[in-house]
Parts: sequence; C-alpha cells; structure tokens
Amino acid sequence: MPELPEVEITARRLDAALAGVAIESVTAPGINALKTFDPPLSALEGREITRVGRRGKHLVVEAGDLLLLVHLMSAGRLQLYGKRAGPRDRTSRLLVRIEGDRELRLREFGTKQAAWVKLLRAETLGAEDVIASLGPEAWPDPPADLRPLLQAARPLHTLLRDQRVIAGIGRSWVDEILWTARLSPFKRGNDLDQDEAFVLRESIVTTLDGALEHYEQVVKLPIPDKLPLPLQVHRKAGEPCPRCGATIEAVHYEDYVMCYCPDEQTAGKVLKDRRLSRLLK
Ligand SMILES: [Zn+2]
Repeated sequence: MPELPEVEITARRLDAALAGVAIESVTAPGINALKTFDPPLSALEGREITRVGRRGKHLVVEAGDLLLLVHLMSAGRLQLYGKRAGPRDRTSRLLVRIEGDRELRLREFGTKQAAWVKLLRAETLGAEDVIASLGPEAWPDPPADLRPLLQAARPLHTLLRDQRVIAGIGRSWVDEILWTARLSPFKRGNDLDQDEAFVLRESIVTTLDGALEHYEQVVKLPIPDKLPLPLQVHRKAGEPCPRCGATIEAVHYEDYVMCYCPDEQTAGKVLKDRRLSRLLK
C-alpha cells in the first residue's frame, strides 16, 4: 500500500511532468471509483493542470479552482502514460487525457475496487471528511512534542497508523520507524516519556526522509507499479537485524505482518503470534 513517501514521490514526479499541461477530456471507466457527480468530469476539459500535490496518503491534482482528490488505497496507482489506454484495460479507474496524446491514468490491480476519486471545488477540500479528519503530517515537520497526539492507551503500532492521529504512515513504514526508535510496537502511547517521544519524532522524520532520498535517486517516470521500498525490518522476519544481528521476529495479523527486533525493541521478549494463538484457542 502506498504510504507517505510513495505518494510524495508520485506527486513530485507527476507535478514536474504535468504542471501547465492542458486536459483534453476525463472519463471514469471504473464505475465505482468516482465518488462525486457535481461538478461533472467535463468541467475539467480545457483546463490546465496547475499542480500535483499530496495530503496524507492522498494525491491532489489541481486544475485552477477544481481538483481531483485521489486515494490509491492498497492497489491503486496513478501513472502517466505516453499512450492512451485501450478499452479492454480492466485496471483503468480514471483516465485524464492530456495534450500530446498522453494520459494520466488511475489503475487498480486485483479484484477489489477500493481506490477512489473525487472532483471537488478547491475551496471545499478542507471540509472533506477524509481531509478534515487527518492529523498533522508525519513529514516533513511533525509536531515538536508528539505526546499530546499519542495520549491514548493504544499501542504505538496502531496509533501511528491512525490517520486521524498523524497522517501518512502505514504498515510498512511504522515497522521501520519503531525499529529506528528502538521502541516496542506494543508500547502504549500514553506510556511514552519525553525522551522517547523525542526519539520517536526524530525517527519518523529520518525514516521518511531516507525513503524519499532513495526514491529521488531511483524512481523515474513512468513510475513503476511496484516501488523499490528501502526496508530494513518490515517483511524481513527470520533475517538478521541490520543493526544488532538478532533475528527479526514477526506477528501475523489477518492482512498484514508486524516485524520488529526483539533484542532492541522488546527487551528480548518474543511477542505472541496472533495467528498461532488463534489456532490454539
Ligand atoms: Zn536489532
């Protein structure tokens, strides 16, 4: 699932390629993808794309006082193509035809149709639920003291992925951030002391910075379907921790895996694998 660094690099690359380019037409072959009907998509025809940006994990394609708010969910990608999609491309959800025969295309892989788009008047963006409910951006400059945000008896692994608490972090980068901070994924937010909160903030910034620096080096247009995530612990269960050599452990949940270094994050304790304990019940 694209998280803040993946969405940010996508926005940067698309912005560089599309700012100032005229829209010829917009269609939504993915019948469930478009969540608004007023203004109609035809209102974009003839307009210039003024900017491509990001809010949390959302992409924002601005065209003057109108904008497309796009959420890729887990399997969506917004890509620029030099050729237009054929009618049989079943992954197409939204097609923005632009001058020079090019096309900005929202595609989605897999069977679920979860990615969505809204065409909004720019002044109403902040009032959209998904935007109004976002916590402060995790990058580049999260609040200096995270403790007021994290003041809840919930595990850090859950809190940091809650977009209402802090915007942009998901299942991959939360593992990397907590490993960088040497904090247990199950530590409660309201148990953080001042030093830990400071280290956590630094870890959020340096981890996401590092990912973006990496993408700046390796990601070019067309943006690949799968970005090369520079991960150290996430999806690395069974491998040695790159810092201390201990074996990276994992907890499996229904639809994701949490990875951590037991030596550095949980005082040597191996956390219960939910998958296993469910089977034993
Ligand atoms: Zn370690």
